[in-house]
Amino acid sequence: MPLDIEEFRKAGYKAIDRICDYYYSLQDKPVVSQVEPGYLREALPAEAPEDGEDFDTIQDDYQKLIVPGLTHWQHPSFFAYFPTACTFEGMLGDLYASSAANPGFNWACSPACTELEAVVMDWSAKLLGLIPDFYNTSGIGGGVMQTSASDSGLTAVVAARSRFVCLHPSIPLESLIIYVTSQTHSLGAKAGLVLGLEVRVLDVREEDAFALRGETVRAVIDQDKERGKYPFVLIATVGTTSSGAIDRIDEIGEVLQDFPDIWLHVDAAWAGMTFVCPELRGPGELQAINKYATSFCTNFHKWGLVNFDASTLWVRDRKLLTDALDITPEFLRTKHGDEGTVIDYRNWHLGLGRRFRSLKVWFVLRSYGAEGFRRYIRKCIELNNLFASYVLESPDFALVTQPSLALTVFRLQPETEQPLALQALNDLNRIFYGRLSARRDIHLTQTQLNGVFCIRLAIGAVRTDESHIKHAYDVLVEEAGQAIEAWKQTKQAAMD
Ligand SMILES: *Cc1c(COP(=O)(O)O)cnc(C)c1O
Repeated sequence: MPLDIEEFRKAGYKAIDRICDYYYSLQDKPVVSQVEPGYLREALPAEAPEDGEDFDTIQDDYQKLIVPGLTHWQHPSFFAYFPTACTFEGMLGDLYASSAANPGFNWACSPACTELEAVVMDWSAKLLGLIPDFYNTSGIGGGVMQTSASDSGLTAVVAARSRFVCLHPSIPLESLIIYVTSQTHSLGAKAGLVLGLEVRVLDVREEDAFALRGETVRAVIDQDKERGKYPFVLIATVGTTSSGAIDRIDEIGEVLQDFPDIWLHVDAAWAGMTFVCPELRGPGELQAINKYATSFCTNFHKWGLVNFDASTLWVRDRKLLTDALDITPEFLRTKHGDEGTVIDYRNWHLGLGRRFRSLKVWFVLRSYGAEGFRRYIRKCIELNNLFASYVLESPDFALVTQPSLALTVFRLQPETEQPLALQALNDLNRIFYGRLSARRDIHLTQTQLNGVFCIRLAIGAVRTDESHIKHAYDVLVEEAGQAIEAWKQTKQAAMD
């Protein structure tokens, strides 16, 4: 039975009440959902109801059926993947955006949607320390919001391909090649898949802390030239997903000066937010991005206090996007669009319609202020330093790489008479991780670095404080003891 306005008011109050209760009780819930695959299909009817139902019942079913199937990313003991920090301001922004229900593909669709995005992207660019070339007010470069870093990356690759093909119309598409590293997010491989283009994975070394170096780039370009391949885009990362590695943008940029047809896209989906803090912009990373990047992406929906989705993409030259993506059929033509006096964001990304995402970023930035935003980023890093100090002091754990910002990659490495071989350590850590993943009170994820099985702890939930870090460490110690026992037994059994 469809809600009328007054019924919506009541249902809305109730929804907000319940969301508040959810946040009050969040830390008493298990972090990870414990349901079995298919649990919901069993609980729900096979078809949509023939006659409309009472909204109270529907809302109650959300509590009863959906909440148990949620893994609580806002839980203060959620340390898996990367955070998707979320604030009430952001939620309210989304609520208002939903109420306007605007697809915003043209300026004329709703001038506020485009204009707020253009302003908020400039605010954000300034906050992060990007140079004015990337501001929308430059009239040349500019910023646009995308759904995800994967979309931002794909958009950059599409535009890069378009530019390259325009410059070299006689080179066949089969000869084009995308550069990524073994640490690049899978968005690079995905772009290759979508576009049907070859992806070359560049090597990174442990002694460089898994960062891509300029000399590697130069060497592969030379090799590829020789075999008739044409790199046209390089996806570099600031803050890789596995270990938070930071590619040497300065060196890569310097090499690419000699190859101006190669687009440099910098993916800083997670770590880019730290540029809000002046002390976290070095050594020279931001400077190098400002100097060399053709495009730069970071996600407000990861470490930027804005609920999913809010990926921000800046380009040095907006024409590179619109040349690749501008399609204007008659029914989308408008006076201002024809005159070129307004931004039509539909030409800056792959889809047509778009969500009014800038609203929530605007709410969050105004409510927190730049200083509140920085305080949050710094707090996460301090908590991570605290965790890393526990690891360093422990005889049983070891860091696999240096802690990066709010991410620690470590493993169980007990002191033994003979140092354990890689295989043995990996076996032990798999047992350890198996135990950790059975815990309901904390959530961490694993990764592999050069064949080393390791565990990641990433901090970012708004409500995480010292007590949760301490608790996480206590859980790790407890499970480590059990894992070592279990591992010894399997070894003993193998010997018997
Ligand atoms: C998380 C992450 C991505 C993917 O982000 P989406 O917005 O989910 O596409 C890409 N790159 C890096 C470095 C990431 O950490």
